[in-house]
Amino acid sequence: MREIIIIGSGPAGYTAAIYAARAGLEPLLLASSVEAGGELMNTTEVENFPGFPEGIQGPALMEKLQEQAEKFGTTVAYDDVTELDLTGTTKKVILGNGESHEAHALIFATGSAYRKLGLPDEERLSGRGVSWCATCDGFFFKEKTIAVVGGGDSAMEEATFLTRFASKVYVVHRTDTLRASKIMQQRAFDNDKIEFVWNSEVIGITGAEAVEGLTLRNTVTGAESSLDVGGLFIAIGNDPRTHLIHNTLELTAEGTIAVEGRSSRTSVSGVFAAGDVIDPTYRQAVTAAASGTVAALDAEHFLAALGE
Ligand SMILES: Cc1cc2nc3c(=O)[nH]c(=O)nc-3n(C[C@H](O)[C@H](O)[C@H](O)COP(=O)(O)OP(=O)(O)OC[C@H]3O[C@@H](n4cnc5c(N)ncnc54)[C@H](O)[C@@H]3O)c2cc1C
Repeated sequence: MREIIIIGSGPAGYTAAIYAARAGLEPLLLASSVEAGGELMNTTEVENFPGFPEGIQGPALMEKLQEQAEKFGTTVAYDDVTELDLTGTTKKVILGNGESHEAHALIFATGSAYRKLGLPDEERLSGRGVSWCATCDGFFFKEKTIAVVGGGDSAMEEATFLTRFASKVYVVHRTDTLRASKIMQQRAFDNDKIEFVWNSEVIGITGAEAVEGLTLRNTVTGAESSLDVGGLFIAIGNDPRTHLIHNTLELTAEGTIAVEGRSSRTSVSGVFAAGDVIDPTYRQAVTAAASGTVAALDAEHFLAALGE
């Protein structure tokens, strides 16, 4: 029986592991079999993580976080959690290989997944012009012509934000009406740098080393056309990875795991949650890392109280 198990190997999971390990809790971190390292494994340059003034590649940053967690006594296992039993005081975790592990406390740091268009070149050009995060990557598109896909509030917000850098922003949307709130729509309509491409879907992304253009299909006529852009921001939604705990932990209206106030305490005693899986708003590496710290400290206090 372990003191603590952490599920997830993104910035939240590894930061929780660094704190828990330094507190002598010898955590087991379950890192996933194919997606170890979390979302930053899908990007190139990260320029906004504090402490790296010259920037750092996403995978290199995750390697450093893992190294720091292991240095203090974290055990990392590369497998997916397929089942959880959170009913008793002992938390039970079952892995894809059939192994089971038990602990007094559990930190859930499984992140959230940006929805993808499902195009063959989307992954290949991720971090090379294809992005899901204007806050993270907008800076790289100074004086470029780019496109945003989506019609909701986040698409309007990203498009408006990106006009600070880009010389022109196309908003490509499947229909001729937006889901975004009126105020967000108006802000985008009033912006001279934004042009809407209505009734259109992206069916291809071109470029050998980086994005050079898009192939569009008109959803009414079926006609295909091309659009020269140096970047594509996909803003069609986000899904917190909560499938393991549906009907077990309380969720918020946004689908994230509900936590008590500024803590990481979930609706089940001894279960803590951190990072993008509890965050409908900020979703940054450094906010996820900070949230991992909160979870480790909460878990540490919980375990200390158990031993009293
Ligand atoms: C392309 C891209 C570029 C980005 N660039 C930046 C940037 O420049 N700066 C910045 O601050 N942020 C950036 N972000 C956002 C940042 O990556 C996230 O906010 C951050 O990674 C969230 O950390 P997390 O630990 O909460 O979750 P994640 O990084 O999503 O990690 C969660 C981990 O849990 C694992 N997991 C899920 N389910 C299971 C399971 N059942 N068993 C085991 N493991 C499981 C996942 O596989 C994953 O490895 C970017 C995101 C993307 C997609």
